[in-house]
Amino acid sequence: MKEKNARRNICNLDESACSDCTVNGKLMCTFNIKDTVYFILPVLGVWVTLVLGLAFGFIIGKIDFPLLIIFSIAYIGFLIFFFQVWENKILCSHCPYYAFEDEKSLKCYANYGLYKAWKYNPAPMTVSERVQFIIGITLFAGIPLALFLFVGLYIYFAVSLIFTVVWLISMHFLSCSKCPNFSCPLNNVSKEVIDEYLKQNSIMRKAWEENSYKID
Ligand code: SF4
Ligand code: SF4
Repeated sequence: MKEKNARRNICNLDESACSDCTVNGKLMCTFNIKDTVYFILPVLGVWVTLVLGLAFGFIIGKIDFPLLIIFSIAYIGFLIFFFQVWENKILCSHCPYYAFEDEKSLKCYANYGLYKAWKYNPAPMTVSERVQFIIGITLFAGIPLALFLFVGLYIYFAVSLIFTVVWLISMHFLSCSKCPNFSCPLNNVSKEVIDEYLKQNSIMRKAWEENSYKID
């Protein structure tokens, strides 16, 4: 029942209309665990490399105890702040997945289960929000890389860099090409599909047209 609810709310139409919809299969209109797996695997690779690198660096004496504790607390604190507060506001609050008024948490492929801390805003992200998002994900991906460079763990740096590049490439082709948060700076859904989707979502369409977006 929850699945039906999620699908119904991502546009104006009922789930029964999906089979005839022109964007069916071109957008992630409802939660599918496969989309989450594609998105999360490279990220897990980065995190596993980070944990192993921290442990190895500590054992061989390249990372001392104060650095281990300060880095762990600071990075985990940043992740909580970024995903639950900062990204939640600048990116997710503009996403159709945020619009479910009867849901307190997100039910999307990337941030499933996160608390919706802000009010839904159907308008596109502002320039400031796009810049902030780029800064945020640069810190998210760059902090582990910077640590490995700083302490001289070059193999872990290289492995972490490979996973980060794989994550960006796989996200570009498997996630961002089908994500309904079109104003995200990483989104690469075609204008044709965006226009077709906006015709099915009157609230978002109104907000986008009020922000000078033109549907062809
Ligand atoms: S936009 Fe189309 S495919 Fe997506 S939920 Fe609505 S009717 Fe279904
Ligand atoms: S699909 Fe992306 S932008 Fe939309 S709520 Fe989920 S994580 Fe946020």
